Amino acid sequence: METKKKDIRAITKAQLREFFTKNGDKAFRGNQVYEWLWQKGAHSFEDMTNVSKETRQMLENNFVINHIKVDQMQRSNDGTIKNAVRLHDNLIVESVLIPTKTRTTACVSSQVGCSLDCKFCATSRLKRMRNLNPDEIYDQVVAIDNESRLYHNRPLSNIVFMGMGEPLMNYNNVIKAIDKITSPEGLGMSPKRIVVSTSGVPKMIRKMADDDVKFKLAVSLHSAIDAVRTSIMPFNETFPLTDLRAALIYWYAKTKNRITYEYVVWDGINDTKKDADALVEFCKFAPSKVNIIEYNPIDDGMFQQAQSKAIDMYVDILEKNHITVTVRRSRGKDIDAACGQLANKS
Ligand code: SAH
Repeated sequence: METKKKDIRAITKAQLREFFTKNGDKAFRGNQVYEWLWQKGAHSFEDMTNVSKETRQMLENNFVINHIKVDQMQRSNDGTIKNAVRLHDNLIVESVLIPTKTRTTACVSSQVGCSLDCKFCATSRLKRMRNLNPDEIYDQVVAIDNESRLYHNRPLSNIVFMGMGEPLMNYNNVIKAIDKITSPEGLGMSPKRIVVSTSGVPKMIRKMADDDVKFKLAVSLHSAIDAVRTSIMPFNETFPLTDLRAALIYWYAKTKNRITYEYVVWDGINDTKKDADALVEFCKFAPSKVNIIEYNPIDDGMFQQAQSKAIDMYVDILEKNHITVTVRRSRGKDIDAACGQLANKS
């Protein structure tokens, strides 16, 4: 039986250099191959033209390059593009390119499916199959960067981890991918242009603060009242708001990085003044701003976007308390590419 070959992009540059010295070559060969893999995006060892044939064969015998494949690309009327991305084991995740006048944002997935059970989110209907590897996250970004150049004549400018999955439940791989995205040996993007969005795992928020990460943090809050939040995001029972709040205070103290709260206002769920007041109180614990996002219906009836009257009420109360608030419209709804709609219909 053939022994299982290793994913060459799962090893570090140092390990690759060591592989070559152990096999009687120069460590420098590791740098060359590494550059092919990450900067030049080689899809096969054959592509590595400045590496000798014998060396390429040796790599072939020991490793595989697990590249993602964009199976299906859908383009929306508003310029949004959704990719169905096939992984080496034939599982599929989705990622989205969102263009505006001034920027192009990639919305990427961190897991296949999701282990959380937010009642309003399409991805929660799929069970979590597995975590994405760092290179699978990185490849989604590269694919969108290419599409941005091709269809919008400019490189990708921003990345949000708001696709499928909970990034903080695949923390190590997300961090490795971001390291590669921000490294000059990868895409050289500024971490300030990356947002990691979490439903709020207190322990991992503290870990991020301790790791002194430079990217931005968004928290999907949706309610600042425990009973309400638990009813729509049941894991809130395990990680109640007091724990989340303490972790966020810790985050701000360490990073001095303002937090963004994502918030959908639903009819009959969180549309009263009491809900808005609770949000204001929550926002006072650490410097933050609120993004009110439009609800994208995923099935009939369960959840309905609140009346604009309720949203105006929120904006009013937040502004009176000097909390920055933006109301964001959804993009790419016609192709099911909007927030919370990613669920592989195909
Ligand atoms: N698990 C992470 C990232 C993925 S969800 C998180 O929870 O933040 C990305 C964002 O989309 C979150 O703010 C989430 O609450 C929101 N979202 C999920 N389903 C939605 C829907 N149907 N309409 C609007 N936003 C939704």
